[in-house]
This record gives sequence, structure tokens and C-alpha cells, in this order.
Amino acid sequence: MVDTQCPKPHFVVIPWPATSHMIPIVDIGCLLAAHGAPVTIITTPKSSQLVRGRVDRAGQGSARITVAALPFPAAEAGLPDGCERLDHVPSVDLVPNFFDATTLFGEAVAQHCRLLTAPGRRPSCVVAGICNTWAHGVASELGAPCFIFHGFCAFALLCCEYLNTHKPHEAAASLDELFDVPVLPPFGFKFARRHLPLQFLPSCSIPEDRFRELREFEMAVDGIVVNSFEELEHGSAARLASTTGKAVLAVGPVSLCGAQQGHLDLRADSDDARRCMAWLDAKKSKSVLYVSFGSTGRMPPAQLMQLGLALVSCPWPVIWVIKGADSLPDDVNEWLQNNTDAEGILDSQCLAVRGWAPQVAILEHPAVGGFLTHCGWGSTLESVAAGVPVATWPFYAEQFLNEKLIVDVLGIGVSVGVTKPTDSMLNSGNDGGKAKADVGMEKVKQALDKLMDGGVDGEARRAKAEELKAKAKAALEHGGSSYLNLEKLVQFAG
Ligand code: UDP
Repeated sequence: MVDTQCPKPHFVVIPWPATSHMIPIVDIGCLLAAHGAPVTIITTPKSSQLVRGRVDRAGQGSARITVAALPFPAAEAGLPDGCERLDHVPSVDLVPNFFDATTLFGEAVAQHCRLLTAPGRRPSCVVAGICNTWAHGVASELGAPCFIFHGFCAFALLCCEYLNTHKPHEAAASLDELFDVPVLPPFGFKFARRHLPLQFLPSCSIPEDRFRELREFEMAVDGIVVNSFEELEHGSAARLASTTGKAVLAVGPVSLCGAQQGHLDLRADSDDARRCMAWLDAKKSKSVLYVSFGSTGRMPPAQLMQLGLALVSCPWPVIWVIKGADSLPDDVNEWLQNNTDAEGILDSQCLAVRGWAPQVAILEHPAVGGFLTHCGWGSTLESVAAGVPVATWPFYAEQFLNEKLIVDVLGIGVSVGVTKPTDSMLNSGNDGGKAKADVGMEKVKQALDKLMDGGVDGEARRAKAEELKAKAKAALEHGGSSYLNLEKLVQFAG
């Protein structure tokens, strides 16, 4: 049990305002509190409910957490009222305004921190989300160390470090030419520029200055906090530490923080959540395929149709989370509606969820046997923590890098065979949803067949996934690698 007698350093945690970033960084705050440290999480009014909800469920230590909601200057930056998270931004041309708003927000955060002067409340360490580049200035003014939280795994960060240093993508003759990224021998990784995170693409909707600031921020911070665990990263965290000269602390999987304390009742979250769980309760062990592409992932309609046709024709029960259903073209919506009954069941054994699915609880349900994922790191790690093998369908950002880790290094995934990134508001190839399907129905079915059955290879993937599940749990237990890294973080700040 964590020693709560001696005074511990006060952490200020400043999430980057995007839903999928907020979830793990708030959980990191909860874990620090479980290790006896007082924590202040600084957020905005619209996000405070999300933050408080996670804090309340975390159990042990949650009384040590203060949630400060400071007004977000949306209007000052030309954003609609209430636009306080990246996923609330209504159009691509407002993305730069969102970054401007977060810079203004930084000034309010600095002012708030100056007022934290009561005994024991003076901040000892800042943990800041990826694009809160001003946080280093806030920490310096307080004389406190600053850690960055990217949301990426250590392997993807190591690849990015290699790309920043050696720039092989700049020598590539085209977006499709493959080049080596030899970060983790003996594995040989080849990538095309098209498949790299946004800052390595020739253009995107985030202004170039912002990437320069981000790089300066990364280089200035004292260390990197990673939502992962060392046993999963095959030495990437240690290599990243020696390449950057910074502390790299893998403290996850943070999604287990509430569950570990026995206080996380995700089943009771909402009517939708209860419906999903009741549906799963009636299914056989490991028989269900879960399909979801993160908090924002939207496929072009033609691609969504190919996926839908594959899902309704596969022999397993499916939970399919569909984001952006409101903006689908009429013919796709009609197809979905014609195939969905009053309970949201598509073609008798495919449950379509159009809102927010209780993903962690779904993955942990014994009926779930496979996950078709976009390889977002949060989803990937949640699947690892639940021991569920995956089929990989990367969309963008660092997801193609994650796919290599999942399939080639960890051996817990089957690649669907995506060749092109999916357009999004950030990677700016937006074509108004007219893109053709990159992956046809038959290819999707083949990958799913391998995932859910797959003979001897399938058995091997399932066994590896179970092994990693046990290692994930052990990492957070007393004396485990993530537990010890959390202690190091507390000591670093003390
Ligand atoms: N998530 C969820 N329900 C949904 C969609 C997403 O709970 O319907 C959560 C998921 O559990 C994960 C996060 O949102 O914690 C998505 O993060 P990830 O890094 O996988 O993808 P991103 O949203 O950044 O693309």
C-alpha cells in the first residue's frame, strides 16, 4: 500500500483539450493521487464533468485531487461559444483558432498557478498535455520540473525522434516511397511518408509554427510520461531515454487505475452503456467482435459501406460504434436504418452504437473475442489490458506506427491492409467525403476471419494477448514497472 504519511509533492496536471488525450492524462493524475501526492487538474468548464467523473470513479486518493475549471477563451479566438475541445471544433479552418485559444488559456493557467501559494499547495511538478507548449514557462516560473504527456506509446515516440533527427522522409521521392526506420533491432521497420504523424506530412491544417513550438517544448521538458508499460515496449522507453537524455516513465495502462481499486463501475454509466452490457451478457465467451475507431474516427461513406457489408455478413455477433452518423449521406443512413431494428440491432446480430460506447467495460467483458481498431494508442492499450487480440485499421497520426508494434513486434494483431490514411480535419486532404473505399468488403472479412478464428496462428495471437494482459496488471501492482515509475515521478518532483 502507498505511504500517505509523509508529505508528497503537489502535481499540476494540464490536459491538452481533446477527449482522447484527457482520458489518460486524468487517469495519470488519479494514479499520482493513489501514490499519495496531492494533484490539481486544470481544465475548462465544458470538460470539468468528464474530469470529475473519472476522478470520482478512481477511488483511492481521489480526495487528494482538486479539479480547477478555468474559462476557455473560445470567443476571444473566434471560436463558437462552448468550443472547448479539439473534437468540438466545427470546421477545419477553425483549427488554427483553437490553437490560439489554447495559448490564451495558458495565460489564465499561469495566473491560477501563481495563486497556489498555501502551504502544501505550491506546485512541485507540472505534467502537461502534448500541445500545451506554454506549460514549460509556467513550470519554470514556479521553479518546478515539467513533464510532457503526448498520448503516444514509447515506440511511436522513438520513431518520431528518429524522424526528427535523421529526416529520412525528406529524402523520399514520393509520399509512397518506403524508407527504413531502424529504431528497434532486430525488427526492420519501413514506412512511407503518407503513414507518418502530422508533423512529418508535407501539409496539414495545424500551422507549421505550432509544430516548431511543440518540438521546442519536447526538447525543453525534464521528462516524458507515457501511458504504457515497459514490458510492452520491447526496450523503446529505455532507448527513448538514452536518445533524448530525458526521464521516460511508462506508468500504464492507466485505464486499469480505477478497476485496480475496485471502484470503477463503468457498466452503470448510461442507458446506452447498460444496453451494450446487457447485450454482451447474453453472448457466449469470446464470441463477439467489437468494432470502434476512437473518439473522432470517421470513414468516408463508401468505405463505411464496405465495412458494414462485411460486418453484417460475418458469423460473429458484432458491436459496431459509428461516429458522425448524423453527417452520413442519405443512402448510407437509409441502409443503416433499413437494417436496424428498434433496439439498434443491425441484421439480427450486429449492435450499432451511435453515441459513446463504454469501451473499457466492453473490452473487459468475457464475451468479447476480438477488436477491430484504428490503432489509436488509448484503444490499443485498453485492448492489451483486457487481453483482446486486434485487427488493425490505422486512420492517421501515429496509428500506422502503432500497427507495426501490434502486428510485427507484439504478435497480437492482424493487419486489415489499409494503404491510405483516412482524411480528417487535421491531415487536411479533406475531399468532402467522396474518397473511394481503400479496403473492400472481402479483404475486411478475411482479416476478421483470421482475428476471430485463424487456426494455430489465431491461437498464438490469443495466447500472447493473454500473456500481455497479465503483464499489464502486474506492471501497476506494488513493485511492478509502472508502479515503480510512478514512484520515480513522485520522487523526481519531491
Ligand atoms: N472511447 C470510448 N467510447 C467511444 C469512443 C472512444 O470510451 O465510443 C475512448 C476509448 O476507450 C479511448 C479513447 O476514447 O480511451 C480513444 O482514444 P484513442 O487513443 O484510441 O483514439 P483517438 O480518439 O485519439 O483517435
